[in-house]
Amino acid sequence: MNIAVLALQGAFIEHEKILSKLGVSTIEIRQQKDLEKDFDGLIIPGGESTVQGKLLKELGLFEPLKKMIENGLPVFGTCAGLLLLADKINNDDRSYLQTMDIVAERNAYGRQLGSFYTEADFERIGTVPMTFIRAPYIKAVSEKARPLATVDGHIVAARQGNQLVTAFHPELNDSLHIHKYFCDMVANQ
Ligand code: GLN
Repeated sequence: MNIAVLALQGAFIEHEKILSKLGVSTIEIRQQKDLEKDFDGLIIPGGESTVQGKLLKELGLFEPLKKMIENGLPVFGTCAGLLLLADKINNDDRSYLQTMDIVAERNAYGRQLGSFYTEADFERIGTVPMTFIRAPYIKAVSEKARPLATVDGHIVAARQGNQLVTAFHPELNDSLHIHKYFCDMVANQ
């Protein structure tokens, strides 16, 4: 199995480290020709959704990646990655790939003081560590998407077919469970 990590901005190296702990090889997507490489799944990391969204378009990656996801490429978006996949961002006029039928609330916990750590239940896994950094949450999911975890009544993880999103950063904690969950999605695709 080979997982591509979008490496334009943000916490992509941390994802690569977790995947290497799981024995999974990675490649980085930085430009259009990287899409010719062989990969079975894609991670869109946390960082700044506006910057990643702009770079995706400028580098000609936006349309090809959107098509690949729509055609079933397994994708895992964390934090800004969640915003890039969301059909709509409730408190922002911008939208990006719009492949996942969720409405996100951007910077939902406040702009500066919105970073916190908690532990909460994740479907089929159990309690997992969750680090939130200026995170969104999911305000609504359509019947196509399924919530996988909630914190204080807000959805912080969801799945829709080949797409997985978390509002928190599993790559910043020692737990490998969520990445293993994604690798299982890729393996069963
Ligand atoms: N607040 C960021 C954004 O809007 C997301 C933060 C993150 O990815 N940690 O893109």
